Amino acid sequence: MKGRKLLMIPGPVEFDPAVLAAMSEPTESHVSPDFIRSFGRALDMLKQVFLAPGGQPFVVAGSGTLAMEMAAANLLEPGDKVLVVSAGYFGLRYRDLLARCEAQVTCLEAPVGDTPDLEQVEAELRRGGYKLLVATHVDTSTAVRSDARSLAGLARQYGALFVLDGVAAAAGEELRQEEWGVDVYLTASQKAVGVPPGMALLVAGPRAMQAFQGRKAPVRGYYLDFANWLPVMQAYQAGQPAYFGTPPVNLVRALEVSLEQILAEGMEARFKRHACMGQAFRAGLQALDLRMLPVRESLAASTLSAVYYPQGVDARLLAEVSRRGAILAGGLLPAIRAQYFRVGHMGASGSSDLLATLGALEGGLAALGWKFPAGAGLAAAQQSLLASA
Ligand SMILES: *Cc1c(COP(=O)(O)O)cnc(C)c1O
Repeated sequence: MKGRKLLMIPGPVEFDPAVLAAMSEPTESHVSPDFIRSFGRALDMLKQVFLAPGGQPFVVAGSGTLAMEMAAANLLEPGDKVLVVSAGYFGLRYRDLLARCEAQVTCLEAPVGDTPDLEQVEAELRRGGYKLLVATHVDTSTAVRSDARSLAGLARQYGALFVLDGVAAAAGEELRQEEWGVDVYLTASQKAVGVPPGMALLVAGPRAMQAFQGRKAPVRGYYLDFANWLPVMQAYQAGQPAYFGTPPVNLVRALEVSLEQILAEGMEARFKRHACMGQAFRAGLQALDLRMLPVRESLAASTLSAVYYPQGVDARLLAEVSRRGAILAGGLLPAIRAQYFRVGHMGASGSSDLLATLGALEGGLAALGWKFPAGAGLAAAQQSLLASA
């Protein structure tokens, strides 16, 4: 048996060998011609992956939370009103982060596994004065996907900018940033973009950049300030070096390779593959009589699943599944952390990884006494995969 296990958590995920190989190349100067070309191409391809041809990309060393904070800090001025649509842990993280920006934050919440409905969002926006609408594309704590397109439409209708945390979604879930009118879409390298952790990735549309250019108060946070990063991004996009903070050279090279692979697959094919993987995995879980957090199928994310432990099973399952070759994640919502687990199925993970994971999951469940016909989950997932092929 090979020593390495499948990493099936909602980030970091399985990475392609070519991406990892790019990480191990000798580190170049950040102003060398080769690196300038790599960085420029990565920035250009990021816009293509987000389907935002007119957007301004930013790639900055940091994690996804930095991308969240950059979007907030550059768009908001003290006293601005923000509406947060939360579907779990990361919605609440954004609420807390926004409060530090001295914004007036209103947060809509929903019961576990659900998201505030559009009527509720519209009713709140109608009260007026909102500068920003913020939502999480896929909340990684619940595997609930929000209706990004409709939220973008509402934001536009009520004159608010729309910031979407796509950290567990971008490059996996369907998202057409420009067509749908998402003003800032952001992610981190280690999720569906498929690069080891360490980069905050963000594309700001023209309305967001205008709002930034028109601001009166300075951005609170030197490292966060678009004013420091914009000339750097623009220079590399134009094939010129520039410096503000040293870019993560090896990670940027790996990003170039991964984005190339993503675009070679094609965004439409990639959205479809993720939708099929999510559907197949849920079919497998259902056949094992497991219940998921999302309260409706239409809310279920393609990039990950969140699943309640069945009767008699608890977090010991994670060790049992790991022993069988797949690493899964525990619960994240504090109130029910011990009652569920999460499985990432995004990026370079393919259908064989999905089936291997389900096989390991069946083994772990059986070891802990959960009864089901052996192979029921595998058969259902395989049927779903074959039907969608
Ligand atoms: C992972 C994640 C984050 C945080 O990203 P970090 O890289 O851990 O800072 C934010 N939002 C969502 C939806 C995530 O899945």
